[in-house]
Amino acid sequence: MKVHQIYINGSWKDSNSGKYQEVINPTTEDIVCKISLANKEDVDEAVSAARKAFPSWNSLSPRERAGYLQEIAKGIRDRKDDLIDVIVEELGSARSYVEYAQVLRSADEIEASIQSLEDVNFEEDIKNARVVKEGVGVVAAINPWNFPLNQIQRKMTPALLAGNTIVVKPASQTPSAAIILAEIVDKAGLGKGVFNLLTGTGSGLGDYLAGHPGVDLISFTGSTEVGKGLYEKAKDQVKRMVLELGGKSPMILLPGGDLDLAVESSIDSLANNSGQVCSALSRLIVPKESLGQVEEKAEEYFKSLKLGDPNEEDTVIGPLVSKDQYDTVLSYIEKGKEEGADLLIGGRPVDRKGYFIEPTIFTGVKNDMTIAQEEIFGPVLSIISYETVEEAIEIANDVVYGLSGAVVGPEDEAVEVALRLKTGDVYINDAESNSFAPFGGYKESGLGREVGKYGIENYLEIKSIFR
Ligand code: NAP
Repeated sequence: MKVHQIYINGSWKDSNSGKYQEVINPTTEDIVCKISLANKEDVDEAVSAARKAFPSWNSLSPRERAGYLQEIAKGIRDRKDDLIDVIVEELGSARSYVEYAQVLRSADEIEASIQSLEDVNFEEDIKNARVVKEGVGVVAAINPWNFPLNQIQRKMTPALLAGNTIVVKPASQTPSAAIILAEIVDKAGLGKGVFNLLTGTGSGLGDYLAGHPGVDLISFTGSTEVGKGLYEKAKDQVKRMVLELGGKSPMILLPGGDLDLAVESSIDSLANNSGQVCSALSRLIVPKESLGQVEEKAEEYFKSLKLGDPNEEDTVIGPLVSKDQYDTVLSYIEKGKEEGADLLIGGRPVDRKGYFIEPTIFTGVKNDMTIAQEEIFGPVLSIISYETVEEAIEIANDVVYGLSGAVVGPEDEAVEVALRLKTGDVYINDAESNSFAPFGGYKESGLGREVGKYGIENYLEIKSIFR
């Protein structure tokens, strides 16, 4: 079994703690590997290495830094199969989804960020001021388990392009993609201390790293609860922050809209990654008169998607990432039943090894129910009906989150509705995202934006020189 080390100042080493933690395969419940549990001494070393590396990395031109990132994108493509293997093994997400949405997307987004450098003004004149932008300093990048490579990429790429150095902490459940990424970065030869990787727990390592006086910016993706704790931690030093937090995103079907498209898009977002996606369209908001038809289509479509071993070619829905996540999802399903939602299909564990839960649909859901307000992070859909479009918009906005949204209907009307949604993005009909436009949330879904030029701008300090 593999036992992973940590990567500090350009070298792999054992943690000063001498302790390890097992990583579990959620499909088989077998132990996959062990990670080192980095301790405070390791954090001090990594932050100090990153501080030392900052001046020379920050003094390179953005184009020079881009050359290294281009090498990393190439490295990801070269090690594509290794990355897919470890993500499927540790996360349980279906292989085909992991290939395009997790691994190849990471390389595409690096290349898009490099192109986006052209849109970032590192220097400009405003009357008698020369305005210059530079890296903030040392970035602590703390990551969730659901996109174990691309969430790190979405911090690493803009942080490094902007001139910062970085200490990365992956989630403990899915660390191996980050280990491979560190090997790729090492080969790209960025220089000692520019990129450092520490594995370990959130409470033991993440918390100390975020509060470290040598860290200038905390970039966190994860739950809103932990994000709020880090916000509190950042305040003493007024540390810069980028927060990508939870969501409870709506899909609104307008009268006259394509019912099949609305249902399928919503359910696809709950089947991919077994619904463990921050922007999943978990509330399907539909006209009252279409409710029967929506229920029929949703039941038929969700049941048609194959649940099983994520390595099998036609599998769409795999297990949940861990026993904890499995228990959490089951407890939300119980809550939905207790609060009076109608269980249309699913709701039970699947009778096999691994953390599998049946695709689940609740209908007759009221927006104040727990299952409509809180992020479940599993294959669970809530169908909510409305009488007027005004009411649909009110329901969509009536949550603490504001990450993503979708509207299916006649295009002009759908755009009018999109403009009134309090969410960081909105998909109209069958539109797809791209690797240049910003991603991030309104309200308690976060602070700042990732991807493209907006992603880079989060990691820049701005100085006016008057003369
Ligand atoms: P989480 O429990 O908040 O953990 C995220 C990371 O924070 C992990 O590396 C975790 O370490 C670490 N952590 C936990 N407690 C910490 C503390 N007190 N101080 C510092 N770090 C700490 O979230 P998760 O369960 O991994 O991920 C799911 C959540 O991420 C969902 O809410 C989802 O919506 C959100 N998410 C948001 C986006 C977005 O772009 N908006 C994207 C993906 C996911 P350990 O894992 O080692 O404990």
